[in-house]
Amino acid sequence: MKIEVLRIGQRLVRDDRVTTHVALVARGFGASKIFMNEVNPEIKDTLDKVNKSWGSDFQIEFIDDWRKLLKSKKKNSVKIIHLTMYGENINQIQDKIKKEDRVLIVVGAEKVPREVYEQADYNVAVGNQPHSEISALAIVLDRIQDGKQFDIKYDDARLKIVPTEKGKTVIAKND
Ligand code: SAM
Repeated sequence: MKIEVLRIGQRLVRDDRVTTHVALVARGFGASKIFMNEVNPEIKDTLDKVNKSWGSDFQIEFIDDWRKLLKSKKKNSVKIIHLTMYGENINQIQDKIKKEDRVLIVVGAEKVPREVYEQADYNVAVGNQPHSEISALAIVLDRIQDGKQFDIKYDDARLKIVPTEKGKTVIAKND
């Protein structure tokens, strides 16, 4: 399944750290790309550095108009999954979503406009309690990939972790 993420509504400075973490979760949990407004170009530098050290060609694309992006993705048969506490329970909908080929997962920050709910093919709730776009994204990415995202290996990684019971073992490519 090709998975991309769209982050909307982030506020300058206030949401920078959360937006960086949304991007890190998207990359670390198997999405190939995140779209967001260019509120803080440093987020791209951070993710580029992570890619260089730990591999993958995860991409960040800055966009001006998320409405245009939603429209063009829908036109290209990409299914839109909007994460919202008001949506359908993930437990009920995950098996249906797993059968999709290409999805764009939308996460908000401040109040999400009504049209996102209307444009979405799936409005998905990770429980009906308010929590966070970071946790919601992580859970949904895990549920729709059955944990397989954690078996991905990157040949271009400069650093590789050797999982150990205690301590830290990291192999650098030129060692
Ligand atoms: N109050 C805002 C609203 O009504 O749209 C949402 C604020 S919440 C901090 C930011 C984002 O976290 C939401 O847009 C949604 O993507 C995600 N989120 C929070 N709780 C969620 C839940 N229970 N299920 C799914 N997504 C959730």
